[in-house]
Amino acid sequence: MSQGTYDLVIVGSGPAGYTAALYAARANLKTLVFQGFESGGQLMLTSDVENYPGYKDGVMGPEMMDDFEAQAARFGAEMRPDNVERVDLSERSFKLWAEGSGVDEPVLAKTVVIATGAKAKWLGLESERQLMGKGVSGCATCDAFFFRGKRVAVVGGGDTAMEEASVLSKFADEVLLIHRRDEFRASKIMLERARKNSKITFVTDTTVEEILGEDSVEGLRIENTKTGEEQTVEVDGFFAAIGHAPATALFEGQVEMDGSGYVLQKEHTMTSVPGVFAAGDVSDTRYRQAVTAAADGCRAAIDAERWLEEQGEAEQAEDPAVWTAEKDVANL
Ligand code: NAP
Repeated sequence: MSQGTYDLVIVGSGPAGYTAALYAARANLKTLVFQGFESGGQLMLTSDVENYPGYKDGVMGPEMMDDFEAQAARFGAEMRPDNVERVDLSERSFKLWAEGSGVDEPVLAKTVVIATGAKAKWLGLESERQLMGKGVSGCATCDAFFFRGKRVAVVGGGDTAMEEASVLSKFADEVLLIHRRDEFRASKIMLERARKNSKITFVTDTTVEEILGEDSVEGLRIENTKTGEEQTVEVDGFFAAIGHAPATALFEGQVEMDGSGYVLQKEHTMTSVPGVFAAGDVSDTRYRQAVTAAADGCRAAIDAERWLEEQGEAEQAEDPAVWTAEKDVANL
């Protein structure tokens, strides 16, 4: 079964991917979004989003992503809930294989937008790996409920750590916020909010050396970075909140990346491969906000459309106004 060649295939379904889909579909490009099994991106792990313009009372992350998806789908972007297993960007048409689809049936694309985002990082301790899902977590919104009345630790000094600690404080009796320095990357407002929260105890200049427990988290071995003094603290849960790494393994060796694996945008949003664009956290080491990712998705779709036009490959576009009106009538 072949769906023909798509004008644009987007890999990833966070704010960048869905916004690229929205703009591409409205530009009359035949557009497909590979949403991935964890569709919606990092916002699916976020509770209240208070800084996305337009939602004056804030919005829950998953609800916002449902809105993004519905808006892009309304204009005709196709959604596929699959992970992409393999890509070949060495020649056009670009080829993308969905997980489990076999080797013979790639999806063909004239242009590609990489919008796979970034994922939570871990400390890398053996004990962290062993106790994963047994009290070790990377998502307070998902798991805070299990720690009602308990004592938990969050590691990190950025906004993610402040947010995780605050979410946990709604359930746990005490949250230890452990940070390796005594200065914080977190924004002032979020740091202040955490400091004012009587359930959050700040433990600074401290690293976690080991997570203790056999079948569940029972405590931590921590070390003071200034004195070298070690001690054990009892906790029932451990939350890593130390930032993110780009989800770019799929594209290794195919597009240029920086030393940390972020895809480089070479000309506007275009990568080192003409016709392949990157948008959102996957190429953003600086802002990493939903609104900047969405804006980047818009830029990538416009860049893809213009690039196709330059190649003389744009479809004979119908009048978008007529096309949109027809869709609206169809939706009545
Ligand atoms: P981040 O700002 O990069 O902070 C990561 C923190 O983890 C830093 O304090 C860092 O310590 C610490 N860390 C890193 N590796 C570590 C290790 N191996 N061991 C111990 N500590 C380690 O990451 P983030 O907090 O995920 O935030 C990323 C971006 O998303 C920011 O722009 C942030 O504003 C945004 N964000 C916004 C919201 C919101 O507005 N609701 C929520 C979450 C995130 P050092 O400081 O010592 O390097």
